Parts: sequence; C-alpha cells; structure tokens
Amino acid sequence: VDNLTFYRFQANNKGTLMTNEELWKAVLGEIELSISKANFSTWFKETAIISNENGQIIIGVPNGFAKEWLENKFKIYILRALRSIHEDIKDINCVIYAPRESDPLSAPSGIDAAKAPVLEKSHPSFLDQSFNNDSNLNSRYIFQNFIIGENNELARAACYAVSQNLGNLYNPLFIYGGVGLGKTHLLQSIGNEIILSDPAKKVCYTTSEKFTQELIDSIKSQKVDQFKSKYQQYDLLIIDDIQFLSGKEKTQNEFFHIFNALYQLNKQIVISSDRPPKAIPTLEERLRSRFEGGMIADISKPDLETRTAILKAKSSEKKFHLDDEVIRFIAENVTHNIRELEGALNRIMAMCSLENTFPTIEKVKDILSEIISSSKRKGVNHRHIIRTVSEFYEIEEKDLVSKGRKKEIVLPRQIAMFLLRRELKFSYPGIGEQFGGRDHTTALHAYEKILKDINQNEKLKKDIDLLIEKIYSL
Ligand code: ADP
Ligand code: MG
Repeated sequence: VDNLTFYRFQANNKGTLMTNEELWKAVLGEIELSISKANFSTWFKETAIISNENGQIIIGVPNGFAKEWLENKFKIYILRALRSIHEDIKDINCVIYAPRESDPLSAPSGIDAAKAPVLEKSHPSFLDQSFNNDSNLNSRYIFQNFIIGENNELARAACYAVSQNLGNLYNPLFIYGGVGLGKTHLLQSIGNEIILSDPAKKVCYTTSEKFTQELIDSIKSQKVDQFKSKYQQYDLLIIDDIQFLSGKEKTQNEFFHIFNALYQLNKQIVISSDRPPKAIPTLEERLRSRFEGGMIADISKPDLETRTAILKAKSSEKKFHLDDEVIRFIAENVTHNIRELEGALNRIMAMCSLENTFPTIEKVKDILSEIISSSKRKGVNHRHIIRTVSEFYEIEEKDLVSKGRKKEIVLPRQIAMFLLRRELKFSYPGIGEQFGGRDHTTALHAYEKILKDINQNEKLKKDIDLLIEKIYSL
C-alpha cells in the first residue's frame, strides 16, 4: 500500500502536485458529509486510489461487494467529489486488492464479487409457517418479502452479501437502528437463506437476553462448558438486540470468548442493536473494538415512498385491497416504524371484516384516528419520558430527577427536561418541579442548551432521535 504514494497525481495544469493518497483523503472528506456514518464506514473502509492516468481513476477496494456499490450506487458522489478537485477526471473503476496485513480483522482478499442483491418481484411462497426449532428461526422472515427502501438498502445489501459469502466477507456484521425498522427480519433472513441453500449448516438465532438467561442457567447447573461448546459449533450465530448485554460483565466475557473462537474458525457472526457499538454504555472496550472491526450498517426510518411500498406489498400479500388514496392516507399518518404500519393494516382488516364493510377513506380515518393520535400523545407523559431517558442512559430514575450534580447525570437530565418541553409542552416551572423542585431558569437553560447543541453535535442528535423512537414505541 505504501507504493501508492509513488503514484503522483497532477492536481492541475499549473503544476501543483497531490498524491493519490491526498486526493482520496479529500474525496472521502467530501463523501463523508453526504452519507451516513455507518454507510460511509461500510463502503469506504480500506479503499484507496491505486492509479490515475489521463483522468481514469482506479480505486482499490477490499472485496467484490464494495466494488459493486462504489461503481454503481456511489459513483456519482465519488465523481462529483473528484471533479470538484480536478475537473478533468473522466471515470472511475474499482479493483479488488489485498487490505493491509496489519489489520487482523479486515476481510480476506480474493473473494468473488458478491452477486448484486436483487429484489424479487414475485410474491414469496412462504416456506412454511412453522418454527425451525433448532435454529429458532421464523420462516416468515426472508429476503424475498423484505421491501427495499432508501432507509434500509445498504443494511439489506450487507445482509444479503453475508448470506452469499458466509464467514468470508464481513465478520462480524453489525446492523443497528430503532425499533420496528426491520432488524430482526433482516437478521433472520440471513439464517433462512443459509438453511435453505445448505441444510447441513448450523445456524443459531438468539437474542442477547436469551443468551444471558441460558448462561445463568448453565452456571447454576454447572454446565458452562456445555454452554460454550454448544455456541462454538455454529456456522452462523445471530445475536439480536445486543444492547441488552450492556452492563452484564460476566455474559460479555463469555460472549467474547465464544466470539473469538467462532471468528478464528471463519464462522459468521451477525449482531443487531438499537444503536451503534460506540453508543452502548458499559460495553466492554474489547467487545466494542471487535464489533467495530467488522462491518456496521444502519437502518433508518422509512420515508413516505418506502412506507407506501411496504403497505402495498403487505396488503396484496394478505389479498386485502386498498385504494391508492387510502394507502396514501395511512402512509402519511403512520410514520414511526414498520411494525406500527403493519399494526395499522391489521387493525383495518380486522375492523372491516368484523363489520363486513369496505375500507373507504372515511372508514380508515375513523379506525386509525385513535392510533394516530395515540402514537403521538396518549400514554406518553412526563413519567414515561423520564423512565425512557433513565433506561437509555442506564441511570436510576431517582438520580435523574434528583438535585445531584454528578457529571454523568447532568446531560441526560437536560435531555429529559428538553423532551418534556418539546414533546409535552410543559411549562418551565412545571419542569423544575419534576426535577427536585428546581428553579424554572434551570429548565429554560437546559432546553435552550440542548436546542442549540442538537444542531452541532451529531451524537446528541442521534441519541435524541433514538429516544424519540423509544418514547413513541410504547
Ligand atoms: P426490529 O427488529 O428492527 O424491531 P422487525 O424486524 O421486528 O423490527 O420488524 C417489525 C415488523 O415490520 C416485522 O413484522 C417485519 O417483518 C416488518 N418489516 C420491517 N421492515 C420491513 C421491510 N423493509 N419490508 C417488509 N416488512 C418489514
Ligand atoms: Mg427486533
């Protein structure tokens, strides 16, 4: 890779020189601003400009999958950034090259190009409705009925690629995003795909809570070794909602050992969480760096177009016809996540069949009026917000509302005050009262501070987005 610096790059005709490395760094700086952090690190990790001749740029990438995405999805971003520095750039191509040796967690080279993920238009014939007992997989969750939208396409592509290159491409694969956005569906799709294509493969889907419980049971019955050897035999281990391992030192320790054993055997590990590894409090540093050494992809909230597509697919899957106008109304009003969207559809179906009526727009408005307002307000009160913030930051509720000034409490408390104001329109004296009888100026200050910081601090903004999702996903 050091050789790269020998390829000198003529930045402009006036003779200023920029190395390929410098040029790529500048390009990455641009691109980083236009796409999400997770996507950026997923697709641009271990890339470099390998050569530049007459405006033809060759970019080295670690695998066929990255090649696919850089040459298609991200080409316009890359070209735009390159041309803003050097307008004579004509085109880019990618080649697969070996990543740095010094990085033990980087993907091995020489992998065949992953097949481009395809959205199958036909409707899935469900494998069967039963549960695969050994793997804990639900056969309902397959790639074929997962609707691709801008919010999930990269996470979906990463999962699909992993299912085609088990253990060899991205290990571990870490998918994160808020509740009801399709993490479990995607994770299980990998498992179902594997079982279908090679039934001899050993697949295990579990949640971090189940994993913890099993560990505790095995300790009680003095069967820890059995527990460990069971988990070390899998070709694919999927652990859902890893954030619940937070603070559980003993479980994290066991998981770390199992992780390493599987990793060294090139066995695939797939993990999900409601937030990126960095944002999971009390996650052991060594586990965090393991997670970050693999591939991280996020799922965000679906936009209107995706919500519409999902509704259309789900209603036709259920052979329940909805007029476009009705679909639009639902998609515009049920916005938080896909679970909520499915819930709305199920409710409409149930009501219409019960009353033997057709889902007219008036009928649907009526049926959903409660859901729509309830997901906005009902049940969400100050106590719910305070509880959610405490859980999120893993602090005691009583500490959050106390007058204590411990450093780790101050920011969560300001966020809680901010949310009381913004979401519930609490008065400042009212907020002060909830937090140990503080003066209203403290509440005002907290609100204004967070309001200002939210625009400047990416992490704070993400935290608050996640909190909002949690608060409204009662
Ligand atoms: P999470 O694990 O992120 O909380 P789930 O995977 O449980 O979310 O998704 C909630 C529901 O929404 C599931 O029934 C799932 O099948 C459905 N769902 C989520 N995303 C999609 C999608 N893109 N296409 C089709 N169904 C989806
Ligand atoms: Mg889930």
